Amino acid sequence: MLVLGIESSCDETGVAMVESQGSAVPTLLAHALHSQIEMHQAYGGVVPELASRDHIRRVLPLTQQVLNESGHSLPDVDVVAYTRGPGLAGALLVGAGVACALGAALDKPVLGVHHLEGHLLSPFLSADPPEFPFVALLVSGGHTQLMRVDGVGRYELLGETIDDAAGEAFDKSAKLMGLAYPGGPLLSKLAEEGSPTAYQLPRPLLHSGNLDFSFAGLKTAVLVQSQRMVAAGAVTVFDALPRQQQADLAASTQAAIVEVLLKKSMAAIKQTGLKRLVVAGGVGANRKLRELLNAECAKRGVRVHYPELHLCTDNGAMIAMAAAMRLQSGLQTASKAYAFDVKPRWPLHTL
Ligand code: ATP
Ligand code: MG
Ligand code: FE
Repeated sequence: MLVLGIESSCDETGVAMVESQGSAVPTLLAHALHSQIEMHQAYGGVVPELASRDHIRRVLPLTQQVLNESGHSLPDVDVVAYTRGPGLAGALLVGAGVACALGAALDKPVLGVHHLEGHLLSPFLSADPPEFPFVALLVSGGHTQLMRVDGVGRYELLGETIDDAAGEAFDKSAKLMGLAYPGGPLLSKLAEEGSPTAYQLPRPLLHSGNLDFSFAGLKTAVLVQSQRMVAAGAVTVFDALPRQQQADLAASTQAAIVEVLLKKSMAAIKQTGLKRLVVAGGVGANRKLRELLNAECAKRGVRVHYPELHLCTDNGAMIAMAAAMRLQSGLQTASKAYAFDVKPRWPLHTL
C-alpha cells in the first residue's frame, strides 16, 4: 500500500511517499521539503498569512518531485494523508484541501493525521526503529510532553509544560541574544564555545515531584541576565558583547533547558519502569540533549531512539508514516468523505 503524506501545519511544506506491506514497519520511498524559514526571518517569527500562501505555491511541485523520486505516478497512490492539526488554521487548510482534492480526483481515500503523532512516530523512519512500549519525550517548537506509549494510538500523558515549550525557550532566549529565528539551532551552535556553568539560571519545576515542565521563568531569567551583561559591558545590544560572554550565556541557557529535559525523562523512566525512551520533535536534534541522554540511558540500561537528524523538525515523511502505521494497526480507516476540517488545537492524548 502506498501512502502519500502532506505536511503544512506551520512553516515547512513537506510531502512524502511511504510503502507499507503487511505488518512490517513501513518504508520511506521519497520525501521532499521546503522550509519557509528564510521568508519569515525578516519578521522574527512565522507570519501565518505568508505561510499559507507559500504552502499553496510549494505543495504540488513537491508532490511531483516525490512521485518522480519514488518512481510512481499519482494513480498508484492508495491513500492520501495530510496533517489535520494542531497548527495554523490557514496553513493546515492548504494541505487538507490539496489532499482531499487529490483523493477526490483519484477516487482514493484520505486520512487526516495528528501532527504530534507524526513527530512521535518519526523514529520509526530510522534504521533502528523502536519497539513498543516506550516513554516518549516530545520536544518541539509548540509542545513539551512526556508520554507513555503502548502502541499506535495508545498514548498516556505523563506530564507536559504548563507554559512555554522547550523549543520556545530556545527560540525566545536566542531572540534576546540577537540570534535569527528560529534561534534554537543557532543558540546551540553558539553554546559550543561557552561554559555551561558561567551563569546560574533556574531549573524550573526540577523538584516538583511530577513530570510537568515550565520554561517561562527561565526566559525571564535569561532576559534579566542579558540586561545585566549589556549594562556592565557598556554596550547597547547583547550581540555587541564579547563573543565569549555571549557564548557563556548561550551555554548556560542550553544547560538549564537540557538538564530539566534529562531529569524529567529519567523520572518518567523510573515511574513507568520502562526501559526504552523515544525522543521526538525539533529539540530532539539538540546535540547536548542527545549526548546527556545517551550517557544517562547507557548507565541505566535504557535504549534511546531518535529520529534521523533531518527528520526531527517538521516533514512530510512523519505524516505519511503515521498514516501508514494507523492504517496498519486497524485503528482507523481512510475515508472517501472529502468534506474536510482542520483542528488548530488538538491535544494528542485525546486521539
Ligand atoms: P509543534 O510540532 O509543537 O507544532 P513545530 O512544528 O514548530 O512545533 P518542530 O518543527 O518540531 O516544532 O521543531 C522546531 C523547534 O525545534 C524550534 O523551536 C527550533 O528552535 C527547535 N530546534 C531545532 N533544532 C534545534 C537544536 N539543535 N537545538 C535546540 N532546538 C532546536
Ligand atoms: Mg518549523
Ligand atoms: Fe512540529
